[in-house]
Amino acid sequence: MNRALVILILLFGVLSAAEIRDNELYLEINIAVDNQIIISGEDIFIQEQDPFFAKEYSGSIRITLPTSTNDSRYGIIQRVVDESVRGYIEGIRSSKFVWEEGKLALKNEYAIYLDQSFRSYEEAQQLAMMMGYPESHIQQIPIVNASLRVDSDSGDQEYFESPIRIYAEDGIQFGNITYKGEFIVKAQNGKLVFNHLLPLETYIAGVVPNEIGNSSPAEALKAQAVAARSHAVSLLGYNRHAKDGYDLCSTTHCQVYKGEHLQNEAIQEAVHETAGEILYIDDKVADATYHSSCGGKTDSSVAIWNGTPLSHLSGSTCLDAARNIDLSREPQAIKWINTSVSTQGMTSWERAGMNWQRSISKAQLTKNLGLTYLTSVQIMRRGASGRILSIKFYGDRTIELSGEYRIRQAFGGLPSSLFYIQGISSRSKHSLGNKITLKGRGSGHGVGMCQVGALRRARADEDYKSILQNYYPQTTIITDWMKQE
Ligand SMILES: [Zn+2]
Ligand SMILES: [Zn+2]
Repeated sequence: MNRALVILILLFGVLSAAEIRDNELYLEINIAVDNQIIISGEDIFIQEQDPFFAKEYSGSIRITLPTSTNDSRYGIIQRVVDESVRGYIEGIRSSKFVWEEGKLALKNEYAIYLDQSFRSYEEAQQLAMMMGYPESHIQQIPIVNASLRVDSDSGDQEYFESPIRIYAEDGIQFGNITYKGEFIVKAQNGKLVFNHLLPLETYIAGVVPNEIGNSSPAEALKAQAVAARSHAVSLLGYNRHAKDGYDLCSTTHCQVYKGEHLQNEAIQEAVHETAGEILYIDDKVADATYHSSCGGKTDSSVAIWNGTPLSHLSGSTCLDAARNIDLSREPQAIKWINTSVSTQGMTSWERAGMNWQRSISKAQLTKNLGLTYLTSVQIMRRGASGRILSIKFYGDRTIELSGEYRIRQAFGGLPSSLFYIQGISSRSKHSLGNKITLKGRGSGHGVGMCQVGALRRARADEDYKSILQNYYPQTTIITDWMKQE
């Protein structure tokens, strides 16, 4: 054990760095987690946090984490104190979002570690058990003074202390995508974590085109901007990536973010005209989840994911023609899937979600289900959108699959679980042929805003507030949701 090393680490430890600058919320959006990060561009400044050391680069730059100098260590958290407790600055600081008096607040808290660190998780585990600390108190200590090696294509080599900040006004290229502004690279959990540090509004502009397309009508872009902003703010409240070293990831797990990719004037206008607007309900942000195409009606969050019923995610009618049809019933759902609906004005991805057909061999389905043989199937339950929520398979075992996503995966990755098996028209047990044909409608989980519906409404001159009201009933739009100290 090296006590001097541990204390040095604890003095400067910072896990994540969401911050408020000039009344604007800045977030760390993760771009990549890898052993090496290769970026390129002109006039790129790389700077150490402390002590101050900066260098300018142009061309291709490779950042690596030399393993020899970066042994990771494990510590045991003794207790966590918040910033209101004076005199405890020697802990590892992490910023955490909380809802306070109806507003989102950014709080710092400090994890105070035991005076001992360990080379392996097992060693830490042994002591934690002896001293009665739960396993969740064992954490890899972020090695803030780890060395990051920076190699330029001109053969120049430099070592920086983690974390480093990168400034690139004219942008950097990473994986064929351009990102502009400020970045953070840090050593965490034995990897390099590469984050874009940017204002919430800039982030939203990088999400909207990747979620709904950049040539959508203005009111649909605005609806998407408000939904994406609300979803982001809602996710922040869960601190779901706090231990990973960033606020949100850039994949579908949070929301797809790709920097400048697909951005244009229309996108920036939609974000600007709805600046700061989020959907609000019961003194909190309304989680504005969304999906590609409901297929007629949206479903409730409870039917799709269980959990607490939410009045703004209880399902609504998207297509008027489906309004009086009970899609949770078998014959009605089948009849609806076969009812033709207008696809006028739709782009190809929208049309693809309205009617689709897939097939799978019984052999493949048997394999996907982990069965030896399969004889028959039985649809058990559909949600308000007509999505199958539960289905039974009979073979060498009987399997009941629950959840629209698992059902889609079992059939080889269907666009949605709003489908029927050709030849099966009732809720009773049916035997399966060797080739199984599926006919369906809709794409995605079906909860919250339907993007195809938002586009259709925008083309029919509905404004974004009315679009949002349809998919998130009982919500209001507010801009004053961030608690300023
Ligand atoms: Zn995520
Ligand atoms: Zn819809």
